[in-house]
Amino acid sequence: MKRTTLSLLLLTLVFSLPLRAAERPIAIAIHGGAGTIEKRRMTPEREKAYRDKLREALDRGYGVLEEGGSSLDAVVAAVNVLEDSPLFNAGRGAVYTYDGHHELDASIMDGRTRQAGAVAGVKRIESPIKLARMVMENSPFVMLSGEGAEAFARSRGMGLVDNKLFDSEQRYQQLQRAREKLEKEQKQDRDYRAAVEELPQAYRMGTVGAVALDKQGNIAAGTSTGGMTAKRYGRIGDSPVIGAGTFADNRSCAVSATGHGEYFIRYNVAADICARVFYQGKTVARAADEVINKVLARAGGTGGVIVLNAAGDIAMPFNTKGMYRGSRSSRQPAEVAIFGDKE
Ligand code: ASP
Repeated sequence: MKRTTLSLLLLTLVFSLPLRAAERPIAIAIHGGAGTIEKRRMTPEREKAYRDKLREALDRGYGVLEEGGSSLDAVVAAVNVLEDSPLFNAGRGAVYTYDGHHELDASIMDGRTRQAGAVAGVKRIESPIKLARMVMENSPFVMLSGEGAEAFARSRGMGLVDNKLFDSEQRYQQLQRAREKLEKEQKQDRDYRAAVEELPQAYRMGTVGAVALDKQGNIAAGTSTGGMTAKRYGRIGDSPVIGAGTFADNRSCAVSATGHGEYFIRYNVAADICARVFYQGKTVARAADEVINKVLARAGGTGGVIVLNAAGDIAMPFNTKGMYRGSRSSRQPAEVAIFGDKE
């Protein structure tokens, strides 16, 4: 072989190595809640505000991945942007319990190790997703609740905030309307359970979540919420329950859910989707569609999920009118959407 040919060959090899690494897929998907979201009920200004915030969260998470950060870092970064916004029912925009407080739930799962962390019913934590991660990484436990979770936060140097920090006029109005409806139903001697079930989906919308795939091929999922408007104090939804609202395993998929939590717990939604991928070899799109649009819909459960796998495939099905959502990957440009098909 001629000398020049040999050096050419070497050069090609050297230059293709970093390229190979850069070709590894990265991906992220986020949601900001599912429910009765209709274009005709939303002003253009409000729609723009939602789209901009979703885009900001997506970019923040994707930026972390581009720089070589872990999927866990990307999930926390994206979820934290949405927790800090009063538009979503997590952190700042958290809904009210029946008695007028805020109780927040969150969880996170690492698809590489299947380690997980969760907090439930916390009242004084500004970023529940960050505390969930602390529980995962700095304690031998998976889930901490209420005052115990807050004491743990303090012991780890995380400051506590006043529950009033989460107050907002819009959510307060929602609580008043929900209370009126529930009280009226009770006066008519109707079943309280039926009345709660019938509360319009608008009263419990806005949970946030993210799933991500990093350059190392690891996936992760995280979810954060204020729960459901007018929930009984102490009620815990699906968002902090691993397997129900959040799940991640590199071998199958990462899921973050939003919707009527009681159903997501009973149907083990996030884990069921990944089990279908793992045991039945289904695509994430098919597995997620089956669980959301068949199993859950038939049972009367409303909501949606964001799902991705280690190859960067993304699915975001929901059985409600809309779901605040967004996705971006090395194969697909950033997309943000709110409504259903006929957007
Ligand atoms: N899943 C949440 C809960 O039940 C609410 C939601 O996602 O809208 O607490």
